[in-house]
Amino acid sequence: MRYPQIQTDRSTSLAAAIATALLAACGVRAAAAADAPAAPALTALQCGHLIDTASGKTLGATTIVIEGGHIKEVSSGVQSPTGAKVIDLSTQTCMPGLIDSHTHLTGETSRTGYIDKFHWNTADYVVRSTLYARRTLLAGFTTVRNLGDQENESVALRNAINAGIIPGPRIYTAGRAMGTTGGHADPTNSYRNDLIGDPGVSDGIINNVEDAVKAVRLHYKMGDDVIKIMPSGGVLDESTSGDNAQMTLEEIKAVVSTAHDYGFAVAAHAHGAEAIRRAVLGGVDSIEHGTFMDAEDMKLMVEHGTWYVPTIIAGDFVARQAKVPGYYPAQIAAKAAAIGPLIQATAGRAYKAHVKIAFGTDAAVYPHGQNAHEFELMVEAGMPPMFTIQAATISAAQLLRHDKELGTVTAGKLADVVAVPGNPVEDISVMKRVSFVMKEGVVYKLNSVPVDTAL
Ligand SMILES: [Zn+2]
Repeated sequence: MRYPQIQTDRSTSLAAAIATALLAACGVRAAAAADAPAAPALTALQCGHLIDTASGKTLGATTIVIEGGHIKEVSSGVQSPTGAKVIDLSTQTCMPGLIDSHTHLTGETSRTGYIDKFHWNTADYVVRSTLYARRTLLAGFTTVRNLGDQENESVALRNAINAGIIPGPRIYTAGRAMGTTGGHADPTNSYRNDLIGDPGVSDGIINNVEDAVKAVRLHYKMGDDVIKIMPSGGVLDESTSGDNAQMTLEEIKAVVSTAHDYGFAVAAHAHGAEAIRRAVLGGVDSIEHGTFMDAEDMKLMVEHGTWYVPTIIAGDFVARQAKVPGYYPAQIAAKAAAIGPLIQATAGRAYKAHVKIAFGTDAAVYPHGQNAHEFELMVEAGMPPMFTIQAATISAAQLLRHDKELGTVTAGKLADVVAVPGNPVEDISVMKRVSFVMKEGVVYKLNSVPVDTAL
């Protein structure tokens, strides 16, 4: 909870003193509760190596000087600027903070996930989301694009992280995903008749152009950052098809043109080839999953400059869980077994076809914090290790439209820096052992240990 007036409003000093005393009595430090973790004035990161994500080269010893929340200077060699707190990363490889372009921080897979929906309130999801956010940050992901929640609660999570109340990645959120009746975004699929109801625009369900326009405007009103649509069927909902086309071209175009008016990018969950084709022709900014993407889709995506976010780890995880009896409802298990294993090969073909690829994992479909396994799966699919690191930094920053502040270690950008104990270009698995995490000048992990003062 924040009590900003306690510190800033002198006219209520008595009330402030009482409130502070009450907080102290409860074991809460008002300053700690209210303040964002402070970045030291000047910090020098002495990196053994630095990955230059713009050139795709690994540089030798490099010193990154941080002032407040920004990168002040990047210079080769080991430097110790006067007055700077020095952090020795001489055995590490530094790189920009990682970006996951597809997360769901307010939920997580579990055997009871489908029953929990009937017992849990949004608050139950939100409380857990604070833990998922912390795990994600400590895994080296300093920024995420959150593509779907229950009732826009990821906005509260984002705001609490931005205010320094809880640790977590910088979030750009879509709030609730948008789809059509009975489709992948419909929250009441498969319920018994008296519970099905008729979800509408405020539930994320649109069925014509007017609905589409209003739904985007509602997201604007509710403080979201990006729009997520479901033009195809999906795996983890209880309906028959995982890949059929579920939005018309006109509906997609209406979403996209309204979204672009408001400065939103549009991410499209799409497995089926026809749904992908419509989404690309409709002008979306990225295709998520893309399982049955065919050569024509890939050609169209290159022509339109559409990004692809494969989420191979999600396909891999659901295919394995589908074999565990009772983990998913039967209909979902069947779709997971059929669709999950195919994403990796599609991602490999898309790379060869020069489709723009940004790193994203669909975190929540698998346990939060394991995001970096995606790097290994991308490399297995045929992508060079450096390409996968660029996909999670400079490319993902471009997809987010925040490449001016994120994605490279460059003077003037936000001081998001992570390090790994080895050379990821030779051994990509080292990305799973992020040893140092700095977000906006604040250190959250040092020598592989979470930094409690920042947490
Ligand atoms: Zn997703």
